[in-house]
Amino acid sequence: MGSIKMRQLDMGYKPLQARPSCGNCAHSAVAGSEGAVAVCYWREERGMVCNVGAFFVTPYATCARHEPKPRPPATPEDYR
Ligand code: SF4
Repeated sequence: MGSIKMRQLDMGYKPLQARPSCGNCAHSAVAGSEGAVAVCYWREERGMVCNVGAFFVTPYATCARHEPKPRPPATPEDYR
């Protein structure tokens, strides 16, 4: 049996933050920031918006249009 990291890798284990979600989707943006779609709702603009659907989202929601944000490639150090 290898290290915990190697066993997790072997099982396809994904922590919550690594699962497909609006929080790690390339289409999400901070509401009101540059590059975020303008969303008009009754509440003030804060939180996270989806630039595809033009609606507010929550970090752990997801949909069929999810695309992962680009990340730097993993190194062997990440698995020790
Ligand atoms: S609703 Fe879908 S496309 Fe929009 S940010 Fe969330 S996962 Fe991405």
